[in-house]
Amino acid sequence: MEEEKKIPQVMLTGDRPTGRLHIGHYVGSLRRRVELQNEGKFDEMYIMIADTQALTDNAGNIQKVENNVIEVALDYLSAGIDPSKVTIFVQSRIPELFEFTCYFMDLVTLSRLERNPTVKSELAMRGFDESIPVGFLTYPISQAADILMFGTTIVPVGEDQAPMIEQATEIAHKFNSTYKPVFLEPKIMLPENESARRLPGTDGKAKMSKSLGNCIYLSDDEATVNKKVMSMFTDPTHLRPEDPGHTKDNPVFIYLEAFATDDHFARFYPEFKNLDELKAAYEHGGIGDVKVKKFLCAVLNDVLDPIRSKRHELEKDIASVYRILEEGTKRAQEKAHYIALRARRAMGVDYFENHKLIEKQQKAYNKAHEQEKAYAEYLAKQKK
Ligand code: ATP
Ligand code: MG
Repeated sequence: MEEEKKIPQVMLTGDRPTGRLHIGHYVGSLRRRVELQNEGKFDEMYIMIADTQALTDNAGNIQKVENNVIEVALDYLSAGIDPSKVTIFVQSRIPELFEFTCYFMDLVTLSRLERNPTVKSELAMRGFDESIPVGFLTYPISQAADILMFGTTIVPVGEDQAPMIEQATEIAHKFNSTYKPVFLEPKIMLPENESARRLPGTDGKAKMSKSLGNCIYLSDDEATVNKKVMSMFTDPTHLRPEDPGHTKDNPVFIYLEAFATDDHFARFYPEFKNLDELKAAYEHGGIGDVKVKKFLCAVLNDVLDPIRSKRHELEKDIASVYRILEEGTKRAQEKAHYIALRARRAMGVDYFENHKLIEKQQKAYNKAHEQEKAYAEYLAKQKK
């Protein structure tokens, strides 16, 4: 019996270089990437710095994008991404991604794009009004190319990315049924911990986001973390420690859910065994916000300490970090190139590589010439 062909397991995910990475990125995706890397179950792993996508709403601010490519790379490496196991690459340097963005545009309707809930809320947040850049509206199509051109099977991301993965799946399906089966339909991998799927900002807004300035960055020093936590939004009805408090929709507790372990309680808040106990006490009344915030500071600084010190080391040799990106980008180019060959063949746009096509066209012309000749001979005979 013929051995079943195994599909390579490929992980791909990425970030926009619009700022340094924050703790929302960490719990939403980065922490998972490091775990997946260390488990070693994937045949190939890719992380993309989405500079082209960042430019879709930053065309007038190229310095921001240019400067943050290296910042995001430093954050990856500091958080434990190992470039010998994971290919880190820069989106703009893979031409095939833009070639297929263009082809995929033929497979998506404008109304489908306008229905994308993440794009809708991002448009409202950026206040584009009537002047929406076409590139911004269509970035989910370009993101589909990023995912599909690497044969991706799993995309570990936060909840805001679910509509993008859905769109990529639809495009893969549409391409395969319109032309020939080439693209795999990717699956989203959301954090198991619900609080980590969309970490709110320190201001209590629905999402911690680089573009909203409500972030705790992975590279913030201890004093900055403490300052940001101490001025965080909490439960507005919890005015005095003895008041009963709410833990739901309270960002301090949401952060603790995403970060605090029982070991953190044993080390920094031994009055309680775990978060359930602390929550019950806070809801009952008798626990002040300052105490909970101080615990959160200790937890976050404990998580961020090793990341900050690794970054400090890496910052001493920036050229090496650029070299890692350059080498990763070369590897990514090879993979995208190979998938593009198959996809172009499926679409019949591989004119120069398709020898059968050249033969077929030659035969058709030979036949046409023969017929032309026969016809001319027939006409000549008739004239006589
Ligand atoms: P921008 O505001 O420029 O879009 P961003 O902060 O939303 O930046 P992205 O680069 O768009 O960050 O997102 C990168 C990854 O991090 C995605 O997988 C996204 O789902 C995840 N992510 C971003 N913000 C959060 C958050 N607050 N909670 C959980 N995951 C998040
Ligand atoms: Mg975003």
